[in-house]
Parts: sequence; structure tokens; C-alpha cells
Amino acid sequence: GLTGNKGWQPHWRDPEPKPEYDIVIIGGGGHGLSTAYYLARDHGLKNIAVLERGYIGGGNIGRNTTIVRANYFLQGNSEFYSHSLKLWEGLEEDLNYNVMHSQRGIINLFHSDGQRDAAARRGNMMISQGDDAILLGREELRKMVPFLNFDDLRFPLYGGLYHPRGGTARHDAVAWGYARGADTRGVDLIQNCEVTGIDIENGQVRGVQTVRGPIRARKVAMVVAGRSSQVAAMAGMRLPIESHILQAFVTEGLKPVIDHVITFGMGHFYISQSDKGGLVFGGDLDFYASYAARGNLPTVEHVMEAGMALMPMIGKARVLRSWGGIMDMSPDGSPIIDRTHIDGLYVNCGWNYGGFKAVPGSGNVFAHLIATGNYHPAATRFRLDRFRTGRGIIDEEGKGSQHN
Ligand code: FAD
Repeated sequence: GLTGNKGWQPHWRDPEPKPEYDIVIIGGGGHGLSTAYYLARDHGLKNIAVLERGYIGGGNIGRNTTIVRANYFLQGNSEFYSHSLKLWEGLEEDLNYNVMHSQRGIINLFHSDGQRDAAARRGNMMISQGDDAILLGREELRKMVPFLNFDDLRFPLYGGLYHPRGGTARHDAVAWGYARGADTRGVDLIQNCEVTGIDIENGQVRGVQTVRGPIRARKVAMVVAGRSSQVAAMAGMRLPIESHILQAFVTEGLKPVIDHVITFGMGHFYISQSDKGGLVFGGDLDFYASYAARGNLPTVEHVMEAGMALMPMIGKARVLRSWGGIMDMSPDGSPIIDRTHIDGLYVNCGWNYGGFKAVPGSGNVFAHLIATGNYHPAATRFRLDRFRTGRGIIDEEGKGSQHN
């Protein structure tokens, strides 16, 4: 359909790195780009560089299964994801970019009385936070998703927690939209620019070393998702982060068949259908620490089995592709958005399985912290020292297959 179109222009400039910036952001993923965008949009800061070792959109921002939701239970998480979802709801207008945000609704299945109670509790928390939640019984669930295996699933379907404002978005477009928005406001996006060292003098950050030479900076933000431990080690820090692989899969394009996002926690499986028609699905981690952005067959088999058990009809679809991303897993399942013990050095990581939905919120609150020195009201609890002191742990695993 685009064959006749000519004269496409690059969406952003390709500048040479300057010797010095006010702020250097390491990592051109979703969070790094949105941080740069909000620093420029909300705080009028322009002398900023985003340094990306590969290309914009090549990390997890372009590898995830695109689920967007605000259905967290614990304080700390609930107000933050609520804030992020509101930003999603205005994002296309704000960026003037079609990110294909689709609020098709998410259904988290439950399979016992106990799980129903937990789902009701979560739903009540979501409602008291100002978000939406509907508890579906078995027959209401059957009306909405009749193709599930209601007859002989090993974990019988008791119902689901329905979050109508949840849904999906086009992951690459989110990266491209933020990149263009930041670039237009004067931020330099520098690709193929791996950071190899962090310069610190007398407890104050001074800049970074890169494969394209040294760059001085007054403030440096580490926003590198699965590479967080490695980059923080350049500043002599040991983060409470482990990097693990998470895989995902997509089938050939089919006519519309699955209207919602469905998560099947007991089977470690979740699924939605992309606007192009592919069934997009995934499961749990590969369960050993690794920096390889590819997965292993036992997990593939496990995910396929769970999918077939829940909706046997998908056995007819052919899987086109699978891939993996490197997840920055924190011990309590919640993120870190904080300053460090080094003046001017900030850290944003620990997004586990769920950092895509956080992209607008994370950039927004992180920019606030970097620009003003104060925690944003929606992100006061994502403190690094909670893992040292044990105070303020937010023990809520945003598990891919359970809630995503
Ligand atoms: P990235 O895009 O990985 O950005 C980090 C960037 O830092 C990379 O581009 C990397 O190249 C760069 N970098 C690293 N080291 C250096 C260096 N030394 N110098 C310069 N640059 C460097 N989340 C959801 O909310 N919903 C989902 O449905 C969902 N599904 C997922 C499914 C899969 C298979 C995967 C892998 C992830 C999923 N996630 C999901 C999680 C989400 O994708 C991540 O939490 C989030 O994208 C991480 O933040 P980011 O976008 O900034 O990361």
C-alpha cells in the first residue's frame, strides 16, 4: 500500500555527540526516550543527549508483548501505574503520533474460590485508586470469551478480573513517537554510542566514556533495563538486579478472533491479537540469569502447552517468530527510580516483566526527579535503599503470565 510513497524523511536527526551536555541519558529504550521527552517538554531542558549502544527501539521496547494496564494492588505501584495509564490515554495527541493505543480490556483468569477472593481484593484496590475493575463470574466470562476451554481445563475456569481500560499499544511506535518528540525539542539522540565508563570525581559525576569518545555531563541517568547491573558497575555500584530472558511469540495473521488481552496465571500464559492479526503470546522467564536476547526450547514447549490447554483452537495457527528480551528483575518485583550515592548520578531500572506500560509514567516521574531534585508524588516509594534497609519493600511481582 505504501509503494507509491516517496520522499520519506528521517523522524529524527543523526547528530554528532557534543563534548558536553547538561544531562546524559544512557539507554535509548522506552524509558530513556520518555525521560528525555519529559525533561524537554515539562522542564524546558534541551541540552540533553540520549546515548544508545545500538539503534533506537532495538531493546525491550521493541520486543515486548505490549500490554498496558493499571491493575496493581500495593501502594507505591498502584498510584504510579494509574498515573502512567492516564498519560497513555493522552499520548497520541501529546506526541501527535499514532501509537495504536487500544483499550480493548484485560481479563485475568482465576480458578478457585481463593483466587476469586484475591481478584476481588485487587479489583477493589483498583477502583479505590480511581481505575476500573469488574469481577466476572464463570458465565459472564463464557459470554465474553466462549472459545476458552470451559470443559476440561486442569485448572477450572471460575471467572476473571476484567480491567476495561487495559489493552495494548504498538511498541515500536511508542519508541519512535517519543524519539521524534524529544528530537524536535532539541534533544540529541545518538545511536551506536555505547557507554563504556562513568567518570566520577570526589563523589560527583562528571560525564561518561563512550565508544565515540568522552562526553562531559552535569547529570547522568542510567536507564538501560537488562544491562543495568553492567552499567551501574561502571560507577562502582552493585545493583539488586538479575538479568533474565523472557520470550514471546507471534503467529501468522488471522482474522479477528481474540478481542481482549487474556492472562492465564496458573498456566504461565497470556495472549492478545495484534491489529495485523497475529496472535501475540508469551509465558514465564527462562529461569536462569543471562544476557542472551534469545530463549530456549523447554520454555517454548511450556508456553505452547499452556496455550493449547486454555484455547485448543490456537493449535491451528502457525507460529511465525519467537524472540527474547533481557529483563531487569528486582528482588520485590517493583522498579527503582532514584538518585544514587554519587552526586548527579540517577538510576531507573527493575522493570521486570512489566516496563512497557510504565514507559510514559517512568519518564515523566524520572524527569521530575532529575530536573527538580524531588520525588514525583506518583513515585515516592521506588527507592534504591529499600533493598539495603528492608524498609518499604513493594512485594508485588508483576508477573508476565499472571497479570502482565
Ligand atoms: P530497552 O528498550 O531494553 O532500553 C534499554 C536500552 O539501553 C537498550 O536499547 C540498550 O541497547 C541500551 N543500553 C544498554 N547498555 C548500554 C550502554 N552501555 N550504553 C548505551 N546504551 C546501552 N512490559 C509490559 O508492560 N507489558 C508487556 O506485555 C511486556 N511484555 C514483554 C515481553 C517480552 C518478551 C519482553 C522481553 C519484555 C516485556 N515487557 C512488557 C517488559 C518491557 O519491555 C521492559 O520492561 C521495558 O521495555 C524496559 O525498558 P526500556 O524500554 O527502556 O528497555
